[in-house]
Amino acid sequence: MLLFQIQLRYNTSSKKLFSLFFLKFIKMLKVETGSDNQILRTKSVPIPKIVAKHQALIDEMRETMQREDGVGLAAPQVGQNIRLILVTLVNAKERAIVPMINPEILRISEKEVCLEEGCLSLPGKFAEVLRSEEITLKYINTKGQEKILSLSGMNARVVLHEIDHLDGILFIDRMVEHIGPLQKLKSKLYL
Ligand SMILES: [Zn+2]
Repeated sequence: MLLFQIQLRYNTSSKKLFSLFFLKFIKMLKVETGSDNQILRTKSVPIPKIVAKHQALIDEMRETMQREDGVGLAAPQVGQNIRLILVTLVNAKERAIVPMINPEILRISEKEVCLEEGCLSLPGKFAEVLRSEEITLKYINTKGQEKILSLSGMNARVVLHEIDHLDGILFIDRMVEHIGPLQKLKSKLYL
């Protein structure tokens, strides 16, 4: 049933209409919160093989992330300590939500940039975090293929933030400044 839905969602010419229709059947997941939440503080395990339950989880995570206005989401944030993240990657032409299985950083630039971040698991908290400006990573896509990708700027930051979640690290562990109120940082990153 799920596969059938996905095919319809992506193959139909009335893509939007079908998406709206099927969205109703995709479960919203509870987002784990709290800086001392055990699930968020546990190192997640690699996924040995992608099976149907992972595909279903990816759909549910995508739905949850979009409804919560996030640009990234890691499986521990929805209660699963497995190495799976969803990241929104943006370039001049398009914006895509990319699921990454077992992501691994291969290279990070020495040059770092400081930007304010927020997190769906730490509602209302924002802080400046120093991260590498450019990264190269490898990951497995939903078809089981290994991919290597170089990213910079915001795209690199989102991936680094989400991989941190897989290692039980929250952005407040890396913050270089105070935790500020929500309204001050309204336009910032929610990851
Ligand atoms: Zn986060």
